[in-house]
Amino acid sequence: MDPFADTLRRLREAFSAGRTRPAEFRAAQLRGLGRFLQEHKQLLQEALAQDLHKSAFESEVSEISITQSEINLALRNLRAWMKDEKVPKNLATQLDSAFIRKEPFGLVLVIAPWNYPVNLTLVPLVGALAAGNCVVLKPSEFSRSTEKVLAEVLPRYVDQSCFAVVPGGPQETGQLLEHKFDYIFFTGSPRVGRIVMSAAAKHLTPVTLELGGKNPCYVDDDCDPQTVANRLAWFRYFNTGQTCVAPDYVLCSPDTQERLLPALQSAITRFYGEDPRSSPNLGRIISDKHFQRLRGLLGCGRVAIGGQSDESERYIAPTVLVDVEETEPVMQEEIFGPILPIVNVRSLDEAIDFINRREKPLALYAFSNNKQVVKRVLAQTSSGSFCGNDGFMHLTLDSLPFGGVARLGICLRAHAGQPRVSPSFHGASGMGSYHGKFSFDTFSHHRACLLRCPGMEKIYSIRYPPYSPRKLRVL
Ligand code: NAD
Repeated sequence: MDPFADTLRRLREAFSAGRTRPAEFRAAQLRGLGRFLQEHKQLLQEALAQDLHKSAFESEVSEISITQSEINLALRNLRAWMKDEKVPKNLATQLDSAFIRKEPFGLVLVIAPWNYPVNLTLVPLVGALAAGNCVVLKPSEFSRSTEKVLAEVLPRYVDQSCFAVVPGGPQETGQLLEHKFDYIFFTGSPRVGRIVMSAAAKHLTPVTLELGGKNPCYVDDDCDPQTVANRLAWFRYFNTGQTCVAPDYVLCSPDTQERLLPALQSAITRFYGEDPRSSPNLGRIISDKHFQRLRGLLGCGRVAIGGQSDESERYIAPTVLVDVEETEPVMQEEIFGPILPIVNVRSLDEAIDFINRREKPLALYAFSNNKQVVKRVLAQTSSGSFCGNDGFMHLTLDSLPFGGVARLGICLRAHAGQPRVSPSFHGASGMGSYHGKFSFDTFSHHRACLLRCPGMEKIYSIRYPPYSPRKLRVL
């Protein structure tokens, strides 16, 4: 018995009937989404507090208001985004009409993680609805309270013939993925990203994958350590470090490390008090599994700041590790928690080399008073996004695309004496992007259109056989 067959059939029928195509319908869905956020803001904040011990401030700035501004932007620009885009023409098509039409894909699946369970579920939804798709939304089962609000309350605000929320975990997602969707938008770990991509490949369904980040942060000797420490600490410990674009580790000289450590300690104490455990501004780790994983990482290098943990609350103190070896687990996996290792390098060249020897990151940061240093890091590395002299502030700009940097390659390998073609996936940070108009474009097929004039056959007939050198000269 397929639990989703009826729902998916209903959504497909609505799409085929053209229900989601008119601009008025799309705008009504977006307005409904906005009303849901406004009318249930407190409920959402309570759910986020239950799931992640998230403060009202962090919930507001990183979940609710950011989603609301995406909705407002889409509502303001919807008709302009939907408009056919005229393109330049050649001599043979001067009298014709050539344009790109933005068409909805059809039935799309949005799969979300738990770390920003409102933002990362609803911001893709804004793009999918604005682009005129029918949508199945799969929130994360780990952010249980938020999932409940999304599954039980949100559908009242969006047309249910075109929209469904499917709660559940890997089993439900696996069953969903057996179906053919017209587009899949996934945010989560590289491990599950591979599962999603393989499932999509069976139907040749296009995907956007927003994956993980082990994001380097270079701190130059020429810097004000306290300013850098304030910014680093806020962005590393925001949402208890459970942020895909958080600075994951610092690269700096031993001298800068010595100046940075007291400044980081000062920032942490000012932000979270002498006892961060009792701070209302510091969250908790989402699950026992992640808590155990993070506690294991505290054994890497030497604890310079923090290091305390409490299993009963899944609490981990804002921590800084030093004397960390490149081969230790904390430098091998995405940390996704309130732990900041510092790795020493002797020069900017060594830092750039360190970054380039690893997987291309989701985000990259460089701090320096010297603009040339920041520009060199930008020019000589690659990453999904880059911010100089701050943390993930670039995310506040809906004029910038947000996503990873991926290469989908083909490698030839000998297998049983025969060359065998197999895909090699290097995109741990993901592929595709969204936010603002980029979301609308991600969820739209860009259809190439040429409308020719029905007459003029005499002129057009020059291209038909029998061919001759004279015809070639004219063309
Ligand atoms: P996850 O990959 O475990 O889960 C993401 C979603 O996939 C959830 O909805 C989950 O139910 C589903 N899922 C889990 N296992 C599955 C399976 N076997 N088959 C099918 N579906 C399955 O990720 P997470 O733990 O929720 O989130 C943390 C990860 O997400 C981190 O790696 C983080 O970097 C990444 N992330 C990336 C971004 C980004 O924008 N690039 C944003 C947030 C989080």
